Amino acid sequence: MPEGHTVHRLARQHLDLFAGTVVRASSPQGRFAGGAEVLDGRRLVGTEAYGKHLLHHFEPREDGGAILHVHLGLYGAFTTGPYPAPEPRGALRLRLANEQWWTDLRGPTACELFDPLAREQLLGRLGPDPLRDDADPVLAYNRIGTSRTAVAALLMDQRVVAGIGNVYRAELLFRHRISPFRPGRDLAPEEWTALWRDLRTLMRAGVRSGYIVTTRPEHRSRRRVAPAREDRFYVYRRAGLPCRVCGAEVRRQELVGRNLYWCPRCQAS
Ligand SMILES: [Zn+2]
Repeated sequence: MPEGHTVHRLARQHLDLFAGTVVRASSPQGRFAGGAEVLDGRRLVGTEAYGKHLLHHFEPREDGGAILHVHLGLYGAFTTGPYPAPEPRGALRLRLANEQWWTDLRGPTACELFDPLAREQLLGRLGPDPLRDDADPVLAYNRIGTSRTAVAALLMDQRVVAGIGNVYRAELLFRHRISPFRPGRDLAPEEWTALWRDLRTLMRAGVRSGYIVTTRPEHRSRRRVAPAREDRFYVYRRAGLPCRVCGAEVRRQELVGRNLYWCPRCQAS
């Protein structure tokens, strides 16, 4: 599943390519035909990412403004390229295009029109997003620090922190040597402050590069400027392999329906 950095990257890319231009919208598959009709021919005035939610703001008309809300979910993806756009194929939910660029959306969990109230309601349900400058980490700690739930489950809860996915949560806890099973209320405020800062740094790097790297150079098998795929993580998808720091076998277990990875020695408590 795309994590917050991917969605923020898309927001920036779509802003670069489409903002200020009149956008043609269509739903070749038909499932968003009504929504595409509303958006078609409007000018894109801005984009916004909040956690894993992507919002496109279109110019208002007599009938009001229009906001496109997209959540990619597990399988959704955008494909983007220069004009001319290819023949529509497959389950193409939405195509946005201007005279220079096109972007195709397939397989999203949500692709719908929002009014400003729906946007407010969505943002009101989400925890702070580490990639947004307006994020307040205290709001997240208010929930974490009073919960008996395992910190690994809390970090995946979008009402607590918006934008973290399976990779960042596993890697973040490893980097701070925190057991994923520790109850949230046993996390000290200064530990949360350190986690939040690190998360911001890691996710911002993810926005810049387009991929996640959490390993420090001294823990990689090869020294390279851009770490090889197998060198990017400490524990994520490394079950059965030796921990990069202590050599213990990395473990995997299902937690709230997703695979959790951790080092039982480095993250003992
Ligand atoms: Zn270890």
